Amino acid sequence: MSIAAQIKKYKDELPGDVDLVAVSKTKPNEAILEAYEAGQRIFGENKIQEMTDKHEALPKDIEWHMIGHVQSNKVKFMAPYVSLVHAVHKLKLLKEINKRAKEEDRVINCLLQLKIAEEDSKYGMEADEALKILKSEAYQEMNHVKIVGLMGMATLTEDEQKINTEFAYLKGKMDEFSKEFPALTTLSMGMSGDYQIAIKNGSTMLRIGSSIFGERNYN
Ligand SMILES: *Cc1c(COP(=O)(O)O)cnc(C)c1O
Repeated sequence: MSIAAQIKKYKDELPGDVDLVAVSKTKPNEAILEAYEAGQRIFGENKIQEMTDKHEALPKDIEWHMIGHVQSNKVKFMAPYVSLVHAVHKLKLLKEINKRAKEEDRVINCLLQLKIAEEDSKYGMEADEALKILKSEAYQEMNHVKIVGLMGMATLTEDEQKINTEFAYLKGKMDEFSKEFPALTTLSMGMSGDYQIAIKNGSTMLRIGSSIFGERNYN
């Protein structure tokens, strides 16, 4: 199926309250434009340099989401335009985003990434730590970042029961935290292989790459 046809398929299939982030990492501008022309406006990247190059070259009404691990020393490059940072994994990074957003006179929306998978390789914090950040004086005093939800990545496995358990856990934390912090409204979970399980568990934002743009070639 073409990129445009995939975008249309998702738009038809997804519930109205679920946003689609088209994950365009490693893909050329022409591929992004094809999705754009089919009506897609939110794109996700995992490298700040690559996202910035694409932001500069492509239509300015695209919303750019940083979905990958963020190094503090690169935050300044995305601060002028990024619309959502999905994977905040520590308070120190939030402080840096706040500082750079202030220089740009912006408020940058962020999600806290919770570790829900078993693999050690996955970034993210424990739920307790996320709650500690939300409650901290340091965060309360930041006027240029807003934590608007949570993000998580399930274990890469064929075991749907396991994925279901991990997503259900994240949704449980979302419900718990949002009682105390009503600004938390976005639950970013679900990728090409597991988005249906994510929707069943209350995802409000899917990050879909390969099933829209085809497999990635990292060479
Ligand atoms: C690459 C990536 C995705 C998209 O994965 P697909 O399996 O290609 O849909 C989603 N989320 C994150 C954090 C990613 O790095």
